[in-house]
Parts: sequence; C-alpha cells; structure tokens
Amino acid sequence: MEMKIGVIKGDGIGPEIVDEAVKVLDRTAEVYGHSISYTQLLMGGASIDVNGVPLTEETLTAAKNSDAVLMGSIGGDAKTSPWYRLEPSKRPEAGLLQLRKGLNLFANLRPAVLYQELKDACPLREEIAERGFDMMIMRELTGGLYFGKRSTKEENGQIVARDELTYSEGEIRRIAKRGFDIAMKRRRKVTSVDKANVLDSSRLWRKVVEEVAAEYPGVTLEHMLVDNCAMQLVKDPAQFDVILTENMFGDILSDEASMVTGSIGMLASASLNDTKFGLYEPSGGSAPDIAGKGIANPIATILSAAMMLKFSFDLDQEAAAIENAVSAVLRDGYRTIDIMSEGMKQIGTREMGDRICTYIK
Ligand code: NAD
Repeated sequence: MEMKIGVIKGDGIGPEIVDEAVKVLDRTAEVYGHSISYTQLLMGGASIDVNGVPLTEETLTAAKNSDAVLMGSIGGDAKTSPWYRLEPSKRPEAGLLQLRKGLNLFANLRPAVLYQELKDACPLREEIAERGFDMMIMRELTGGLYFGKRSTKEENGQIVARDELTYSEGEIRRIAKRGFDIAMKRRRKVTSVDKANVLDSSRLWRKVVEEVAAEYPGVTLEHMLVDNCAMQLVKDPAQFDVILTENMFGDILSDEASMVTGSIGMLASASLNDTKFGLYEPSGGSAPDIAGKGIANPIATILSAAMMLKFSFDLDQEAAAIENAVSAVLRDGYRTIDIMSEGMKQIGTREMGDRICTYIK
C-alpha cells in the first residue's frame, strides 16, 4: 500500500517523539512491503516562528491532501514563551483548534490500557490493577456544551451566565456509528454514557444510539449514567470496551481513564472525520520541561502511529505488530524516565524507538 502521511512535529518534545514514530512506521512498512511518503507541516509555535500564525491555509490544504496526519504536540511554557504574549487567537493552541475544525474531526478516540508490566504505576488497588484493563473512549468532539451559544449578562440586578448544550440526531448518529464500527474491531461491547435521567440532549442521545445499535446485532450495548461511569472507572475498569459519549462527559472521563493507567507518556489518541482520514497524536502535551534532553517517552506517539495504520489504512496486522513490539520492550524491562521503576533499565527516547523497531519482524 502507498500511504501519504502529513507530519506535524510541533514544539517541545514533539520533534523527538515524532522522529521515533516515523522510524517505527518505516520499519513496519519495510517488513510488510508498504511505501510511505511524508510531507512535513508546520503548526503551533513552530509555525508562528516562521509564518507569524499557528496554522496557514496552505498547511490546512496540505493536511487535507494527506491520507492521515501524525502529530507530536504543540505549545510551550506559557510563563516564558513569547508565543503566549500574542493574542489568544494567534497562540499555538489556536492552530490545533483551527486544524480540528478545518478537517471536521468530530470523533476523538483515546485508548486507556493498563500494561501488566506497568501495573505498579496504576493508582488503583492491587486487585483491580491485577485484572488489567483495555478500553477505548470515543468522545464527540465538535458539538455539545463547548460549541453552544454562551452569554454572561446582568438580569434583575445580578450577573447570569448561560451555556447552551445542543445535539442533533445527525451529530449523535455519526459518532455512534464510528463507536460501533470500532467496537467491531475490538471486544464488541459499547457502553454509551449519558445523563438521560436529567437532560433532554441525553435522552435523544440514548434513543439515537439504540437505533444505531440495531444495525450492529453482534455488538452488546449498555447505557450508563455519567456519574456512575466516573465511579465504575476506578472500581471496575476491566468491564469497559468502548465508552461512547458526548463532548463534555468525554473530556472528563478520558482524563480520569488516563490517570488510572498511571502514565501520560503511554497514551495515544486519534481524531477522525467521516472519511478514512485521521489526526493521530499523543494525549500528552509538548513537555517543555524535558524538551531537547532526549528523555521523553515516544511510546504514546508510536502507539498513535499504530492507530493510524488501523483506522486510516485498515492495516490491523501491522498495527498489532507495533503494539506487540511495545509490550515486548516493556516486558524486557526497558523504560524511559517517566515510567522507570526499581530493577528496570532506563533508556532515552532514541533507544526506545530503536528497541521497538527490533521487535517488528
Ligand atoms: P504536558 O503533558 O506537556 O506535561 C505534563 C508533565 O508530563 C510534564 O512533567 C512532562 O514532562 C510530562 N510528560 C508529558 N509527555 C511526556 C512524555 N512523552 N514523556 C515523558 N514525560 C512526559 O502538559 P503541560 O505541561 O500542561 O503542557 C505543556 C504544553 O503542552 C502547553 O503549552 C500546553 O498547552 C501544551 N499541550 C498541547 C497538547 C497538544 O498538542 N495536543 C495537549 C496538551 C497540552
């Protein structure tokens, strides 16, 4: 297969971790007989330095012309970086929001996996960590409360703030379909999370999700209220396969789920639209505190590249080869500093990438 991949190295540790993911992609392509061409794109602080803005029209067009985009992280230290003396619409993060909007990325996927090798980093009780977990949080990304009308005005002598939460059937249906499609590639269970005992938008969510579920008889659907889901994530995370939810609930639950894995440097993510296109990036930020030191953990970016092979190119076997290589390196006791524990062997960013490559055969 021929793959055209846009690459946004970004800021801080971005270039270091992306280089390792590209190395692993190249190795995978070599072993499985694919060819990859990369187009380097500037976004975030790196684009401000060159173009004066965090995202140019040309970059957006080039991203649209790619089959998928692999990204590091963008942004800098808000206290010291000159990027944060610009008005908010010109700062690095504005570029990311414009890119997501411009590419119509409405579905955000964040896996939360507890590797048995890293279970000591899990803050949950030992018997829960022992069972492990492997879930995918599917969050609606372009609707709901964060995109509704808002106002703050004085009414009857006091200030009143309003935020509107709106979902249409169409918005719910397209994310639900993505969620069920992904469940078909996993353990075939969807937990749809809402607040249907209170909110109209959640009652519509539940109705549409049930309609979509009827098209996927092989997938088990359960509904869960968001407050219960927040509890279940720490009580029994092993019960979850795909969690399907709206924007704000997903924002909160995905952070909770990532915390229970114990390591931000391990967490991949993908944002998808209604084509095969996706933007793949680690869940963490640009970590300016460790940038340039060669110690950042590249695994989240490498696993994001594996997600890209799976979701944008349907190369499930190749994606599994990368995931298995990551597990093998951890099993052999190699760790970057963020996941280091007693008795393990500490290595840097490049060596982690090299070692993962050696397991892709
Ligand atoms: P951060 O995730 O960059 O860092 C938090 C902590 O985690 C730091 O101690 C950092 O060293 C560590 N860390 C993060 N990724 C790591 C990795 N791969 N290996 C080892 N350690 C890692 O969060 P922050 O400090 O709040 O944000 C820094 C910058 O990143 C800000 O400018 C923020 O806006 C930006 N940011 C960007 C994205 C994105 O590009 N999608 C996401 C979140 C934050």
